[in-house]
Amino acid sequence: MSVMHFDGACQCGAVSYEVDVDIESTITCNCSRCQRMGFVLAFTSVDNFQLKSGEGHLMEYLFNNKAIRHLFCKTCGVESFAYGKMPDGTQTVAINVNCLSGVDSRALNSQHVDGKSF
Ligand SMILES: [Zn+2]
Repeated sequence: MSVMHFDGACQCGAVSYEVDVDIESTITCNCSRCQRMGFVLAFTSVDNFQLKSGEGHLMEYLFNNKAIRHLFCKTCGVESFAYGKMPDGTQTVAINVNCLSGVDSRALNSQHVDGKSF
């Protein structure tokens, strides 16, 4: 674990946040959404996440078992984070590492999750 502090934002900048997250344990996933969006995700607790702007800019999308609240910017369409629940019910935040400043998400050694088969 190496939790670090990052600034994150959507493309247009309307939605922005600060987060403490471990980007050494990221995942990619082949579910119907992640596959299309090309997400590189890292997870953190809600206490480590602070939305700085854009509350009113967020559109919500739910699918499958609706365990994850996908939130994307209504101006630029970028989903920079999502709220979810762990299997034990704990609230979590899925961070789209592609939206963190100063991070080369393609260079990370992400673990691939077979979300398609869930
Ligand atoms: Zn935006």
